[in-house]
Amino acid sequence: MTQTNEKLKRDTSENVVKSIAQANEKLKRDTSENVVKAIAQANEKLKRDTSENIVKAIAQSNEKLKRNTSEYKDISVSCGDCHRKIFDGKVIRARAVNVAEGTALCRCKKWVKVPISLTV
Ligand SMILES: [Zn+2]
Repeated sequence: MTQTNEKLKRDTSENVVKSIAQANEKLKRDTSENVVKAIAQANEKLKRDTSENIVKAIAQSNEKLKRNTSEYKDISVSCGDCHRKIFDGKVIRARAVNVAEGTALCRCKKWVKVPISLTV
């Protein structure tokens, strides 16, 4: 009877230790899988967000460019002295253009402010 109890006690302890080890192993595996899964999802989301932001930024940039271009069409610049048209909304007609200062040299040799954007 005493021996049986002793064996039962030992067996139970071994089983408990074994099942705890298995549970820990499973928990470790599950956690790893979940972490990997969560990281994958986070990366996917980040990728999607970044793509969306890039698309959005390009769209905004295009919109801005379009607006700027159409604004130019409404602008015409004439020389203050000889009233010759320097810029007709598309082309600058001048002897020279100072890109740094955004001015064009009229045929009457007066520098006139014209809309220039530095895009190369
Ligand atoms: Zn002029």
